[in-house]
Amino acid sequence: VTGATRIVAGVERSSLNAAYLRSVRAAGGLPVLLPPLIGPELAESALAGLEGLLLTGGEDIDPFHYRETPHPRLERVDPERDAFELALFQAAWSHGVPVLAICRGQQLVNVALGGTLWQDLPSERPSQLHHSHPGERTDRTHLVSIVPRSRLRDALAADEVEVNSFHHQAIRELAPRLAVSARASDGLIEGVESSGADPWVLAVQWHPEEFVRESGAPDRGLFEALVREARQFRDSGISGFRG
Ligand code: MN
Repeated sequence: VTGATRIVAGVERSSLNAAYLRSVRAAGGLPVLLPPLIGPELAESALAGLEGLLLTGGEDIDPFHYRETPHPRLERVDPERDAFELALFQAAWSHGVPVLAICRGQQLVNVALGGTLWQDLPSERPSQLHHSHPGERTDRTHLVSIVPRSRLRDALAADEVEVNSFHHQAIRELAPRLAVSARASDGLIEGVESSGADPWVLAVQWHPEEFVRESGAPDRGLFEALVREARQFRDSGISGFRG
């Protein structure tokens, strides 16, 4: 589970909203925090012995990684985190480690596989929907339609869900190896996944981890799907590669 580097009360900390870790734990997984300071050169070693990867939310992604110049309203970026997570994802993709990606995580997967992002949704793609909702993190503020027969549909067991939404960026051009699995009513991509021939990747733009304390929330199915895939990966005998 990828973390962030933050300055809290003047002290540099490796941190992560606990809801991500609780969600993995609640689904029967054993969460391990992977902070950016590990660095890209040790990303593959960090992943060795693990059976799944959860790419979490956070900062904007530096548009350098999709060969664009920064928009004036680009928000905070963390080059160390970008480099580490891109290397982690490449390692997961090349070894077949299953990946669940949330918010920034979805954007990172798209960039890693050759796609681009809206750098500043409000100015570049204005909408009636509140994709960056200022209220409670569990407020469900816009509807998302799920593509039939997608992995996401199986994981949620629902054809549409009302989701919480606080993202500044989003997928613009979809990476060639990904398929759209969900869209908001304004057409914005809210879920993507890999095809059956590629390593297992499931990604959403909203924040399912915030519903960990809500029994019966469809969102919890995403973490159950990751843990199920991680078990399969373990039992396949491929896990335990040497980084
Ligand atoms: Mn949204």
